[in-house]
Amino acid sequence: MLQLYMPLHFLGFVYREIRHALADMEKMFGLLHQAREVADAPAAPDLSVGAAEVVFEQVAFGYNSDRQILYDVNFTIPAGHTVAVVGSSGAGKSTLSRLLFRFYDVQGGCLRINGQDIRTVTQSSLRASIGIVPQDTVLFNDTIYYNIAYGKPAADRDAVIAAAQAAHIHEFIESLPMGYETQVGERGLKLSGGEKQRVAIARAILKNPAILIFDEATSALDSKSEKAIQAELRSIAKNRTTLIIAHRLSTVVDADQILVMDQGRIVEQGAHIELLQRNGVYTQMWNLQKRVEQEPPEC
Ligand code: ATP
Repeated sequence: MLQLYMPLHFLGFVYREIRHALADMEKMFGLLHQAREVADAPAAPDLSVGAAEVVFEQVAFGYNSDRQILYDVNFTIPAGHTVAVVGSSGAGKSTLSRLLFRFYDVQGGCLRINGQDIRTVTQSSLRASIGIVPQDTVLFNDTIYYNIAYGKPAADRDAVIAAAQAAHIHEFIESLPMGYETQVGERGLKLSGGEKQRVAIARAILKNPAILIFDEATSALDSKSEKAIQAELRSIAKNRTTLIIAHRLSTVVDADQILVMDQGRIVEQGAHIELLQRNGVYTQMWNLQKRVEQEPPEC
């Protein structure tokens, strides 16, 4: 029996290792593929960013030629301000952040940062000036230290720890037996959705970008984690040009400007109170969310 068990056990081990390696490669090729979609213009200068003003100017876009996703999208995020985007699933909210990071080029109109068309500057300078806290943070199969330091590989240990403290994940890390050397990712410690978002926030704090994109997790966090993450977001968004892709309206009430999207178009725009006074789509969304929150939980 043992003679049969050992080779089978070994084969199982090999299979698991290959599956992990393939998963890593898929992710890497996914990222490489996205980067290859666009190219720098010849002799493109670096993007010069101090305080950054972001402008979407008559932006039209589709992932495929047979289906348009964005129609005539116009809005400005003044330097240091926060704009939040809300709307139904599939309305095109996350697409805005992918275009700003230039994973794809717009097909109509233009995207400018401090007046510079982002297609005319180097991708490296553009991406260095933007920090993203994505919906679902991919953790590398490495230490938690490496995963935070990835935001700025040249950073020293004090800066990495300071970023973790600002993202309120330092104490959690220190409570682990291996501390910052704990292996995370698919082969290591699995972090909760909230903890992963905190790692992404720490990365963004370390990177210290002029522009911040926060793509809120669609999967609900428990309300304590959600409130804490929203507070951390407010503190890193301060004095930074910030685009929030929001799935919960509680995240957007403090934004300078809220864009309501529907089927690729901005259908309402204004601050929370202004939008409520308009009594339109935003008010309907707000009332619906309040009703859902007040419903007793299902048994
Ligand atoms: P959610 O709130 O569900 O995250 P969203 O408003 O952020 O939705 P987007 O992710 O911007 O929506 O997607 C807008 C539309 O584009 C959707 O219909 C989606 O199916 C489509 N889409 C998104 N990514 C791609 C892609 N890589 N290729 C083709 N279509 C895509």
